[in-house]
Amino acid sequence: MLNRYTAIFILGYWLCHYPAYAFSNVLLLNSYHPQYSWTAELTRGVQQALATDIAPNNLYVEFMDERRFVDDPIYYQKLIELLHYKYQQYKPDIVITGDDAAYYFMLEYGEQLFPGIPIVFCGVNVFNPQSITNRKNITGIAEGMEIMGNLELIIQLQPDLKKIIMLGDTTGLGLRMVNTAKKIRPFWQKNPRNPGVELEIWDNFSLDELYQQVNELPSDTAILMLAIHKDRLGQYFSFEKQLPELSKYSKVPIYGMWGALMIGHGVVGGMMNDPYEHGFNAAKMASSILSGTPISQLPVKNSAHYRPQFDHVQLQRFGLEKGLLPQNSVIFNQPISFYQQNKILINAVILVLLFLLLLIIVMVRNIRRRITVENELKQFAQQLEDTVQSRTLELEQRNSELRSISKSMKKLAHTDTLTNLKNRRAASKDIPAYLKHCNITFKPFFLAILDIDHFKKINDNFGHQAGDSVLKALAELLKTSLRPGDRVYRWGGEEFIIALPEASLIEATTICQRLSTNISKISVVGIDNITVSIGVTEFIKHDDYDDIVQRADDALYQAKNSGRNQVTIG
Ligand code: GH3
Ligand code: MG
Ligand code: MG
Repeated sequence: MLNRYTAIFILGYWLCHYPAYAFSNVLLLNSYHPQYSWTAELTRGVQQALATDIAPNNLYVEFMDERRFVDDPIYYQKLIELLHYKYQQYKPDIVITGDDAAYYFMLEYGEQLFPGIPIVFCGVNVFNPQSITNRKNITGIAEGMEIMGNLELIIQLQPDLKKIIMLGDTTGLGLRMVNTAKKIRPFWQKNPRNPGVELEIWDNFSLDELYQQVNELPSDTAILMLAIHKDRLGQYFSFEKQLPELSKYSKVPIYGMWGALMIGHGVVGGMMNDPYEHGFNAAKMASSILSGTPISQLPVKNSAHYRPQFDHVQLQRFGLEKGLLPQNSVIFNQPISFYQQNKILINAVILVLLFLLLLIIVMVRNIRRRITVENELKQFAQQLEDTVQSRTLELEQRNSELRSISKSMKKLAHTDTLTNLKNRRAASKDIPAYLKHCNITFKPFFLAILDIDHFKKINDNFGHQAGDSVLKALAELLKTSLRPGDRVYRWGGEEFIIALPEASLIEATTICQRLSTNISKISVVGIDNITVSIGVTEFIKHDDYDDIVQRADDALYQAKNSGRNQVTIG
């Protein structure tokens, strides 16, 4: 089922895509045999050109095998009979001929075999337009022979050349080519580009003789091959087998014009044509005729394209410089470069390397950015540290200032501003400490309170400032009259309290008496005879501050009551 539908689909598709003349019969008559690479390429060109126009089964391909059966009348006769017999049944609508032999064959027997059928020729080297003047059903593409173009190319490549030898043979086709070459000779002699290179034609040799002759050629000679089908002895010459042999023996470069046949078989190269192109173009011409184009509108094209083509190996062998080749040259058998051989791998490696490079660039940029940020951070940290240090310094300075202020405040709080003695607050701190020490050590301690007698009168009589002066003078005297370990405080008004640590009763009494005596000797701003009353008391274990002060005050009170100017022990 599937096969039937597939077949219907293919047929439908094909009918839609092929033109109306798709079922026309086309006969391709080749001059040579199918294994001849020239013929194979020409046939491929025809097949390729017709692939879209003609149903594949409607193309018939015949091979005259002319290279192997050259100028053989019996063979020709049998061939005519065969074609006649065969194509009565499969009558062609058009005939395409490939190369000279088939063209000349159809020129002679075409009307007899296929009366009135159009003929399109290609690959004809020796074409005479007059031969088809009365044959309106014949057109095609003459291959021509690019002898002059090749001669010019050869002298361009080998400027020191003296002689070019052209090789042909004495077969019918060979002779036609040789004759063409002979006709070119006078034109070559007149060619302004010819530096005097002589032309010689060899067409009558056995292969052995030819091999020997080319082996002895001087280096200022070159060979241009026309075509060799058979040697003088009838030995077959093929481009596949005998051309490489000839090339091997030859001491000089061999040039040629039949591209697909010669390249790779020992020729250096030359202005060459392409059999595929012949076949393709002729088949397209045939298609056009089948589609209804009148032959009169498709005139004969007189020559095929010849392009410079070379074989790298042979160029190397003869040391021919590539720089001298025409610019549009195609060079075959070039060694594949390491890059071409490993293109994918190399491209992949380049891609990977580029990727890695990109990665490295990105990483380097990141590292640089990180270093910059790190440096900025370091700078910032340094600035921060500097700021902290300067702030700490400022703070320390402030602290030290505060400490000194606090110290002086403390001092101020414990100092009497008039006399510069320690004040009552200081006494209330110091004396309990003495008492505590004495409680532990059992050392003696005496406390005295000194009061100026009738001080009010001094103020009244001499003024308050004079009173101040007396207080200052008395304070000074007290400081200098005491022992180093003793302490004196201004208790308040004109009263002073004196601490006498580690003093005995006698020492305490003596010190107080001495104070009293010294004071009486003071004379300040005209004031003298100053007397003081002193109450003294000794520390008794477990005394607290109030206890001992009270006892000293009581003793002072007693001194006052007892007439003043005296020391009383309480
Ligand atoms: P007594 O012998 O009983 O101690 O008599 P007095 O006059 O010394 O004692 P009173 O308590 O009556 O007077 C003390 C006077 O001391 C009163 C006061 O004006 C004076 N006085 C207190 N402090 C100061 C001071 O700092 N400077 C001066 N100039 N006088 C002061
Ligand atoms: Mg007093
Ligand atoms: Mg007094």
